[in-house]
Amino acid sequence: MDHLTEMFAENVFNMKVMRERLSASTFTSLEETINTGKPLDAGIADEVAEAMKEWAMSKGATHYTHWFQPLTGATAEKHDSFIFPDFKGGIVTSFSGDELIQGEPDASSFPSGGLRATFEARGYTGWDPTSPAFIKYDDFGATTLCIPTVFCGYNGEALDKKTPLLRSMKALSDQTVRLGKLFGIDCGDTMAKATLGAEQEYFLLDEELYAARPDLQQTDRTLFGTPPCKHQQLDDHYFGAIKGRVVAFMADLDRDLWKLGVPAKTRHNEVCPAQFEIAPVFETLNVSVDHNMIIMEVLRTTAEKHGFVCLLHEKPFAGVNGSGKHNNWGIAGPDGKNWLKPGDNPHENAKFMTIIVALMKAVDTHADLLRASVASAGNDHRLGANEAPPAIVSIFLGDQLTDVIEQIEAGGASRSKDGGHIHLGVDLLPKLPRGNTDRNRTSPFAFVGNRFEFRAVGSNQSAAGSCIVLNTIVAEAFDSICTRLEAATAEGKEFNVALQEVLAEVIKEHKRILFNGDNYTQEWREEAARRGLPNLINTAEALEALATQKAKDLFSKYGVLSNEELDSRYNTYVEVYETLIAIEAGTSLNIVKTRVIPATVSAIAEYSEVAVVQSLTDDMSALLEKTITGVSRLEAAEKPADQIEAMNGLRASVDALEAMVPADLWPMPNYAEMLFI
Ligand code: ADP
Ligand code: MG
Repeated sequence: MDHLTEMFAENVFNMKVMRERLSASTFTSLEETINTGKPLDAGIADEVAEAMKEWAMSKGATHYTHWFQPLTGATAEKHDSFIFPDFKGGIVTSFSGDELIQGEPDASSFPSGGLRATFEARGYTGWDPTSPAFIKYDDFGATTLCIPTVFCGYNGEALDKKTPLLRSMKALSDQTVRLGKLFGIDCGDTMAKATLGAEQEYFLLDEELYAARPDLQQTDRTLFGTPPCKHQQLDDHYFGAIKGRVVAFMADLDRDLWKLGVPAKTRHNEVCPAQFEIAPVFETLNVSVDHNMIIMEVLRTTAEKHGFVCLLHEKPFAGVNGSGKHNNWGIAGPDGKNWLKPGDNPHENAKFMTIIVALMKAVDTHADLLRASVASAGNDHRLGANEAPPAIVSIFLGDQLTDVIEQIEAGGASRSKDGGHIHLGVDLLPKLPRGNTDRNRTSPFAFVGNRFEFRAVGSNQSAAGSCIVLNTIVAEAFDSICTRLEAATAEGKEFNVALQEVLAEVIKEHKRILFNGDNYTQEWREEAARRGLPNLINTAEALEALATQKAKDLFSKYGVLSNEELDSRYNTYVEVYETLIAIEAGTSLNIVKTRVIPATVSAIAEYSEVAVVQSLTDDMSALLEKTITGVSRLEAAEKPADQIEAMNGLRASVDALEAMVPADLWPMPNYAEMLFI
């Protein structure tokens, strides 16, 4: 075996290992659970647990943990050892089926958004057999078997991001399978699977510089500072040769990820100096979401090993590019094929167009929910900042596909640029450009040949939230289209005729969501307003979408989130947002009072002894006065919006001071020092 094959998934209890270590009947039963979503047969849990423990111990593990994803957006663990006393002075090692299937972490310190009071704070974690267990080696010698789990309250309410994610995948699968049947595809119990490939952007910073910036330490972003004269204007960093120290980091990162079964594929420099990207190959959506969580964690720990700090914040530095997570999302049908790929025959083309039109309906109807799913204090600095998609959600299909859409709307009339007709189910589609060729980089939601790319997700966010919304709204659109098609054909209408009519109607209603132009322009903002598309520019506004009746109806209808569960998310996210802004405000004040003001006072004192720099002394004094006023203003601000405004005002005068105060007196490393590592 070659070294890469040997290394890949070395630390993962995957199907391959299970086949080797489980009896044939247990393996078959487990495989069925994984492929069809059938409940796990409790009778096999003991055997699986024992095999997992033996395997994990052979890799040096001493502990296991249920690894789950609370609403904080991070991952959580509570470790238990495999050790049990034999009461004769020795031990036995044990790990039972019950321990595998269910854990009981103290849930009281995780946000629940009011789902339960502290006195009933128990929650339980439950094994998710569709995501393989893995072994984590930390650099301080701990070796732990991590078991991906869901996290629920005792009445079954979801306290995490994974439970609704799995439910949304099931809802999407049910409707996809139903749609497939209308197109003559029947694969029995086999589920359709949403797929995800999440590109991840990040910054690397030298750890010593990081340690000298309290704003980075407390808030993950710089609250003060301006870009140096040369930063990213020359685009000389993008795809440039990667520097030695960073290459060493990336090589280590890839190795660790491969061992954990994460199919890390591409690595490169990004636009801004000190900014980079890693992208794995796509996988089944929930596995890919888990793997993205692992990528974020391994990025941080590997950076530490190399004397870096990895910044996952959406906008760690003002005035240069921020970081996103591009969610490449697709659907693999129950037949295992990619249903977002235009097919080779008219029949497959018709199915493909149905899916595209359903996506138009889904995204237009619930643009507000998609926007809410990417709302965070960090992402507010990025969306609409002329380097990232705006807060207005629209779909890019490209000229050719848009042309086909227009033809379907016109009922198959000859309106194509090359003069063709389209009769759904009868005609072939014109050859569509594949892949990267004519991609519009400014669109938040772009069709890229065989998948959609949702680019508004923040680098620091779990990919789960936006995927939950996307899966559910597409399930709803499929449901609605299937219902109409089933009714029409029941009345005796020919399928292709019914399809043409239904799609034409849906297109008419939702075509305002299509936009192929430059999303960064002011003209688009105006045009979007004319079309009535929502433009929710900050988190506080965007989160309101989660509190609407429309959202409640949607998520409860498809069994993704009950009204209470949805409420709890809304409450949690609002609280997290307000807390983060308050922390930023407090950190700003602290830095200004204990560092910036003293440094400026020293500078003024030094300068005031030299007559020729009188005008500079005066300028610094004026800015200092402004800064002091800014401090009072920020101290008085209570609401997040006022705090943000006051912080921006304060920052302006502090940044002006940074440009004047002698460098050796300035109390923190500046952008030039930090960005050019
Ligand atoms: P780019 O930077 O040009 O957008 P990348 O190669 O960095 O492209 O990332 C593209 C991502 O899309 C990869 O993770 C890739 O595996 C993923 N992808 C490709 N096909 C699909 C699909 N059918 N479903 C989901 N993701 C996909
Ligand atoms: Mg991309």
